[in-house]
Amino acid sequence: MEKIPYGRQNITEDDIQAVIEVLKSDWLTQGPDIKHFEDNFANYIGAKYAVAVSNGTAALHLCALALNIQPGDKVITTPITFVASANCVKYCGGEVVFSDIDPKTYLLDLDKVRLRLESAPKGTYKGIIPVQFAGRSVDMEAFRKLADEFGLWIIEDACHAPGGYFKDSSDKIQNCGNGIFADLAIFSFHPVKHIAAGEGGMITTNNETLYKHLLNLRSHGIQQDPAKKLENHGVWYYEMQELGYNYRLTDFQAALGNSQLLRAEAGLKRRREIAEIYQKAFVGKPYLLGQSGIIDGHAYHLYILEVKDRKALVEHLRAKNIFAQIHYIPAHLMPYYQQFGWKKGDLPNAEKYYENCISIPMFPTLTEIEQSFVVDTINKFYLA
Ligand SMILES: *Cc1c(COP(=O)(O)O)cnc(C)c1O
Repeated sequence: MEKIPYGRQNITEDDIQAVIEVLKSDWLTQGPDIKHFEDNFANYIGAKYAVAVSNGTAALHLCALALNIQPGDKVITTPITFVASANCVKYCGGEVVFSDIDPKTYLLDLDKVRLRLESAPKGTYKGIIPVQFAGRSVDMEAFRKLADEFGLWIIEDACHAPGGYFKDSSDKIQNCGNGIFADLAIFSFHPVKHIAAGEGGMITTNNETLYKHLLNLRSHGIQQDPAKKLENHGVWYYEMQELGYNYRLTDFQAALGNSQLLRAEAGLKRRREIAEIYQKAFVGKPYLLGQSGIIDGHAYHLYILEVKDRKALVEHLRAKNIFAQIHYIPAHLMPYYQQFGWKKGDLPNAEKYYENCISIPMFPTLTEIEQSFVVDTINKFYLA
């Protein structure tokens, strides 16, 4: 069997043609494809505005800047995420407060966040960064309600969940990143994510003020709105009003993103089919402690099993050319975060989850034969 990774991008002939078109055009960056990608993505997600940036980490950094995180500001996030979700707070000098996960959903536990907020003087915390980990949405409506009670903003890290959703209290479908509950939401177009552009990121929001500010911050803080220019030296005039960055996406990446977006819904459907097969294959197995399972609205960036003898299983799978992965080593246990006082034992649910979790291959082009091979190899490891 050829190597089977946990995730894999899929580049079609159409994708290649879309990139070639841009390479032959007048624009390599800041051309028309950026705006097309932003409009199409906002439409797909159901948000009013979208801002394309160079990667998901840059998206998080710009969100942190736009929400004005100041040195010492405390922000709550989950330890079971890619470290970038937390790092954006540190970029601005803020303090990351990791809060434990719900062991059933693997997501930031709302009740535990509430306890933290209630046990500190009001104003201690400034924001929450919930992560739609593995593609499963937190209850964004409940998080918004809690955030409003305590005057907090929300950055929704939806990198794993383009096309994912949860159902609100009136049973209405609410897409991840649709701008109704979070102030800002972010996505990534790294090749392991649903939509691959090489590198790339997107911020979605329904807030026009934040949207305009983000456009400015993305490109050196240089003012793009002619109506707002202070003076008019001549046709060449531009104006830098604040310190921004060069976090732009290129036009050929945007073209690739646009082309991939056309297949996003089909990819999501296929991910859900794969999840159903896994769920049925593993349910009730004596070695199984938990699995992602079948959840309405889950976008299945990852399919996770919790198993006994996890380390030995990972090694066994590697020997069979199946490159399962672990998502994630709890962020609070990283040496960088330990220097701020975080230690083993602080977040028992996250640490317990980490001992047993494994992400098995999940991507739309995974074949039936490959999937059966993954299931059989896991079964044989335990039951042989
Ligand atoms: C991938 C990812 C990021 C960062 O995105 P990049 O485009 O790699 O910078 C942030 N948060 C989560 C949850 C991710 O999976």
